[in-house]
Amino acid sequence: MARFTVITFGCQMNSHDSERIGEVLRGAGHSEAAGLADADLVLLNTCSIREKAEQKLRSEVGRIAQLKRERPGLTIAVAGCVAQQEGESLLKRMPEVDLLLGPDNIPELPRLLLEAEGAAAPVVRTAFDLEAPHFLAAAAEPGRTPVSAFVTVMKGCNERCTYCIVPHTRGPERYRPSREIVDEVARLVAAGAREVTLLGQTVNSYQAPLKELGPAPGAGEAPWQHTRGLRAREDESEFAALLRAIAAAVPGLLRLRYTSPHPRHLTVSLIRAHQELQVLARHVHLPVQAGSDRVLRRMLRRYSAAEYEERVAALRAAVPGVTLATDMIVGFPGETRDDFAETLELVRRVGFSLIYGFKYSERPYTAAVNLGDDVPEAEKAARLAELIELGDGMRRQLMSEQVGTRQQVLFEGRGKTGALRGRTERSEIVHAAGPESLIGSLCQVVISGSYKNSLLGEIPGVVAEGPAPRAPLPRAAGPARSLPVVPS
Ligand code: SAM
Ligand code: SF4
Repeated sequence: MARFTVITFGCQMNSHDSERIGEVLRGAGHSEAAGLADADLVLLNTCSIREKAEQKLRSEVGRIAQLKRERPGLTIAVAGCVAQQEGESLLKRMPEVDLLLGPDNIPELPRLLLEAEGAAAPVVRTAFDLEAPHFLAAAAEPGRTPVSAFVTVMKGCNERCTYCIVPHTRGPERYRPSREIVDEVARLVAAGAREVTLLGQTVNSYQAPLKELGPAPGAGEAPWQHTRGLRAREDESEFAALLRAIAAAVPGLLRLRYTSPHPRHLTVSLIRAHQELQVLARHVHLPVQAGSDRVLRRMLRRYSAAEYEERVAALRAAVPGVTLATDMIVGFPGETRDDFAETLELVRRVGFSLIYGFKYSERPYTAAVNLGDDVPEAEKAARLAELIELGDGMRRQLMSEQVGTRQQVLFEGRGKTGALRGRTERSEIVHAAGPESLIGSLCQVVISGSYKNSLLGEIPGVVAEGPAPRAPLPRAAGPARSLPVVPS
């Protein structure tokens, strides 16, 4: 039996997969190593969304290959999107790798490891489970289950955004039966989870695979002025029905979130669910990618800036105070300064609590390869810096507006200083001094200060116990650059 360590690159979905990888390996009798130094198996769970992520993998494999030369018994496995994307050709560039497996092949890992042990050549398994999709449920264990947990509702993506490699690496959309989803949420809550985030690439395009969910309130109502095309005019309601089914079946769940929805599936029924379900957080991550219709068309996002804003306005009218986060790509092929100015204008009009900004990165197997990567790197960097500065100012403003207000905070654990760390329903991070017993509870917190990316709070009636959070830093002069940009 091997001692293993998993190194994760990329998004929440990959982190979630890595946890399932750990559970599958522990279930087969393997145990977790303290680190690389005492591991017999190193599994790299990879991301290929931007080129930088692949470069990181290459340098990491190089570092581990060095270890393998000293310890020939070390097994190197590469899982996730790069394994799926490159398959055997990856082995030519990284001959030290013993096993390659795609995102859908995690359940087969123990058997594949046995195969790799006796094999003369590396083992490759990157088949999509199209006929009988399998969704690994998280092990629900009191003491191990986090306060904030993730549950997969679908995998793959049927969109064809011209810059994006995900449809190639994750395959077509496959949906999980709603009964399985509700059961997993219930088991996690019974084991101590209080918040669940539903995961899917276009999570709100969810369809119940057994047609087991009836229409939700709002189904068929689509007042959007700007929506074109029959498919976009439909108001699908199955995702809203799923949210309602979870809320009804799991009363112990305190907060429900989902990521990432596609704007064209932000339907009336989903807005109605936000209006009526207390459990739904007052925050939505709604990637817009660009503010220029010309660029949105070339990206094949299938909405215009006006349509995005119209849907956002309807959500805001129904859910006062809801905050929005978004993803933006700068320097998409053919993006002019004027196009980019439209992106900044959209950001100013909509107002986001958080912007994940990315420089366009050309990816193999995507349609945008044919458009050419024609925005110079320096120009991409300049546009990203401008976007960051704008988003940063908005975020700072939003944070400072919270000072003096009372917020409901769900405490998830302790932060670096040892103070309690939690989130408001609008997703702002809050630090406050308080006892262990509050972890997993919703508390009224008075916001007493704001940091760059989080808030400082006091819990009325609670005698401060344990380490206190650090005081907010005085603001430095000059343009701030605090808007988080996800490392690729
Ligand atoms: N499915 C989600 C959606 O539709 O918004 C997002 C999936 S992707 C993992 C996360 C983000 O990466 C995207 O929203 C996009 O902003 C960014 N991204 C995807 N492909 C990219 C590329 N080729 N270059 C730069 N950023 C990219
Ligand atoms: Fe990629 Fe577009 Fe699918 Fe999101 S919706 S995963 S950006 S193809």
